[in-house]
Amino acid sequence: MKDYTIDIEQEKSEILKRYRTLLRACKSTLKKGDKGMIRLAFDMAVDSHKDMRRKSGEPYIYHPIAVAQIAAEEIGLGTTSIVCALLHDVVEDTDITLDDIEHKFGKKVTKIIDGLTKISGVFDANSSMQAENFRKMLLTLADDVRVILIKLADRLHNMRTMEFMPRDKQLKICSETVYLYAPLAHRLGLYSLKSELEDLSMKYMEPETYKFIALKLNEKKAEREHFISEFIGPITKILSGQGLEAQVLGRPKSIHSIWTKMKKKGIPFEEVYDLFAIRIILICNAELEKSESWKAYSIVTDLYRPNPDRLRDWISSPKANGYESLHTTVMGPKGQWVEVQIRSQRMNEIAEKGFAAHWKYKESSSDSGLDQWVTKVRELLSNPEANALDFLDDFKMNLFSDEIFIFTPKGDLMQLPIDATALDFAFEIHSDVGAKCIGAKVNHKLVPLSYKLQNGDQVEIITSTKQTPKEDWLTYVVTAKAKAKIKSSLKDEKRKIADDGKEILERKLKSLKITYNTDNILKLSYYFKLQSTQDLFYNVAKGLIDVKDLKEYVASEKIVEQKPQQTTDNENIQSLIKQVKTKDSDILLIGEDLQKIDYKLSSCCNPIPGDDVFGFVTVSEGIKIHRTNCPNATKLMSSFGYRILKAKWTSQKQLAFLTGLQITGIDEVGLINNLTQIISNDFKVNMRSITVDSDEGIFSGSIMIYVNDTQHLEDLIAKLKQVKGITDITRFDSDTEKINFKSTG
Ligand code: MN
Repeated sequence: MKDYTIDIEQEKSEILKRYRTLLRACKSTLKKGDKGMIRLAFDMAVDSHKDMRRKSGEPYIYHPIAVAQIAAEEIGLGTTSIVCALLHDVVEDTDITLDDIEHKFGKKVTKIIDGLTKISGVFDANSSMQAENFRKMLLTLADDVRVILIKLADRLHNMRTMEFMPRDKQLKICSETVYLYAPLAHRLGLYSLKSELEDLSMKYMEPETYKFIALKLNEKKAEREHFISEFIGPITKILSGQGLEAQVLGRPKSIHSIWTKMKKKGIPFEEVYDLFAIRIILICNAELEKSESWKAYSIVTDLYRPNPDRLRDWISSPKANGYESLHTTVMGPKGQWVEVQIRSQRMNEIAEKGFAAHWKYKESSSDSGLDQWVTKVRELLSNPEANALDFLDDFKMNLFSDEIFIFTPKGDLMQLPIDATALDFAFEIHSDVGAKCIGAKVNHKLVPLSYKLQNGDQVEIITSTKQTPKEDWLTYVVTAKAKAKIKSSLKDEKRKIADDGKEILERKLKSLKITYNTDNILKLSYYFKLQSTQDLFYNVAKGLIDVKDLKEYVASEKIVEQKPQQTTDNENIQSLIKQVKTKDSDILLIGEDLQKIDYKLSSCCNPIPGDDVFGFVTVSEGIKIHRTNCPNATKLMSSFGYRILKAKWTSQKQLAFLTGLQITGIDEVGLINNLTQIISNDFKVNMRSITVDSDEGIFSGSIMIYVNDTQHLEDLIAKLKQVKGITDITRFDSDTEKINFKSTG
């Protein structure tokens, strides 16, 4: 609870003071009997709201008085509107009925207040309204456009006094204001009202940015004012020299419009050049305003060079909302573009206050002027060709270049970035809705998930419990939220599939009599060139690796058999070992007696002369030579120690041994040519195969070559590393041919 000190007498005199200020504002339009009418309305409003207070603690009556003040002063409305503004909340919030109003104020006032009450019902209550309803409502109420204008005044005052609202309400009110009220004000030509609504919305929706720009504007204020006075000095002088009466001023642009520009052009505050516009307001007779405007244009462009692309003549053909003005952009003395707006006093008032100001200038009774205006607004609102959504689309008037507003089926408003799809919208509603989304209805028509939403679309999401996020979804969502959710659920999904794959692999290995252990799993991953064991399980589950592949791997004999050897095998082994050991030493010499003893170079590590090696007696293929750092070595030595033979190379240069090189680098023109040149010509080394991949400029190749020994290989690597573009060369430990075969599958 807040603590208020209420001084009733002081409040009473404050209320009267505000009332007198209001009367002064409408003095110019008052006719006989008007003052009494306003007084009657004022008394009724004061009395019926007497026990009500605003969130700020102030007497409620301050609000209707302020709304009436805005209607009179800032929109230029007359007595009927002021009466209605004073009474705009009484039917909705107090015991007063429409009948009571009709008794005292007649049919016209009653109809307007009825309209205002209805708008409050649909508009302010629970949800924002649906596009179609919004248009219908406006059409109904445009019977008397004053309903809309008073509603705008009401909204403006609520926005001005919003600091006491809870945060969530502030945001809801602001988003309605940005989407519906500000464009409506723009449409009706109420430019200053529109700017203020936008600035106030931004103040609450993006407080940090708002403060930042306000601060920046303030920092440069003196410099800017100096520039403006230098810029307009010569203009004023020549204008008066030619006998033109005019007001020349520099008008700062709104914080919101500066921010819009920064976003639209992607530039920092410092690069926004038009922080202000120069306005020349000519004071002249109606029949001279066009010619004098062009005279002023000629004076300005004699002084400063105009940008020919930036001349806008809304005097010869005014905008639909009544806006008349001449705009040009000229090069200022410091080499910066300056916008200059030229208009008469009458045009200026229309620009600031819209059509309401317009009819003040029309002759005859003010009512017929108002009728004309009402007709004009009805035309704007009731184009039979346009459907409700076109209407709203029109509304945006380039205001929202990088965001779109989408309606839920219930009429709630959601803000999304431009290019957002139906799927983005689904994720915006809830991540579960996104994940289960199978399609959408946009404006009641079925569309795919990838459908790009348009401003004002009404979207209904269709879900299925069977749906799960798909990889290709990532190609058409644009919001960070949707992307993150899809990625994380794909990961979860993959983990689940991998878990299944793990079980499948366990069964398959069992049937192939291969032990399921970390070591073998790592070897398998390595063999299939996969990043992780999870990828291995995933590929198994997806059927990308099947029994046939596993058998091929077994055939390459990289996995140590699970079963101990049978006796007959054991005998073979023993005799082989004996055969070697009966020789002079117990060291197997590789390289000379190739025929004498049955041995092979193992394909898992491709030993070459110079490598540290050992022999391993196999069951059926005789002795196999492995490098001591072969990935299988530890396992072999620890489990089958009795089958290990010491081995060393004899010196020889005649034989060539197959080995592999993995080469990575930046893909440059002629890279492969340079590599093969060194290998074949400089080193006279035979190549067995070469496989090259290039992905987005990254070169990656594997080359199988025949070398004599490790020294030979090291020299070759050293030379290859000097090739421009090469970043890394490593020797292969594995059966390259098999790997290449796999990677193409
Ligand atoms: Mn109100």
